[in-house]
Amino acid sequence: MKSIVSPSADSPDPVAESEARLARLFQPLDPRAASFIDIRGLEKTFVGDGAPVHALRGLDLNVAEGTFLGVMGQSGSGKSTFLAMLGGLSHPTAGGISVDGIDLYALRGERLADFRREYLGFVFQAFNLVPYLTALENVMLPLAVKKMPGGEKRRRALDVLERVGLSDRAGHLPGKLSGGEQERVAIARALVNEPPLVLADEPTGALDSETTQEIMDLFAMLNGEGITIVMVTHNPEIERYFDRIIVLRDGLLERDAPGAPPGAPG
Ligand code: ADP
Ligand code: MG
Repeated sequence: MKSIVSPSADSPDPVAESEARLARLFQPLDPRAASFIDIRGLEKTFVGDGAPVHALRGLDLNVAEGTFLGVMGQSGSGKSTFLAMLGGLSHPTAGGISVDGIDLYALRGERLADFRREYLGFVFQAFNLVPYLTALENVMLPLAVKKMPGGEKRRRALDVLERVGLSDRAGHLPGKLSGGEQERVAIARALVNEPPLVLADEPTGALDSETTQEIMDLFAMLNGEGITIVMVTHNPEIERYFDRIIVLRDGLLERDAPGAPPGAPG
């Protein structure tokens, strides 16, 4: 998998170290997994006071590494539930998910947390930035638990801020940034651990259409570097960015089709 920040020559490569740790942590691999993301018979039923809600009713999906996948469908069709389960945040009622051969829900709590930290970047519509921390400090947050010198953490966070075009805003508080800039900080924070997979739930939902395009161009660039992206949206304006689009309806896969070909008019 490709690296966004290049390790300095004189220090050990933190990315390689993370990968080596994971290789040890997560053996043996799921022999059934057929692709980077492998989803089998995924079901989620919410049981509360009233009638049970069948949010997902048996989803099968294989996603190749490097795909930019759009997840669409009406409100209530199960998109966020799907993303939460792919993100290791909500246990399925039935079925399973493997990512890179790792059977997520066979992992115990601590290892599932390790998986999330090492493999995933999350970007949400509400940027969830800490208001009293600078852009740089927000981006450094996911590195807090990493055994890595403070200077190295800072350097990696600055590198990734530069990557998203925000080096000159590193010292600003979120309240002093525009919506698009806050979104870029959230993306930088999602990327600082070098995850191979980025999950985004309506990341452009609060942005005007010009800023939406800038942010989607950024996601497209990251995808071009090899990062797999799964993005929930109901904005048809951004469909053209996706390699593949799935449409959910009442917790089932209604449609699964290639996105617009590169260069198609948007
Ligand atoms: P979408 O993101 O496509 O709008 P969701 O995945 O949020 O859809 O929700 C799918 C269905 O599951 C909806 O009927 C929703 O009300 C229900 N649901 C989602 N989360 C919960 C929950 N924590 N408890 C009960 N029902 C839920
Ligand atoms: Mg949703």
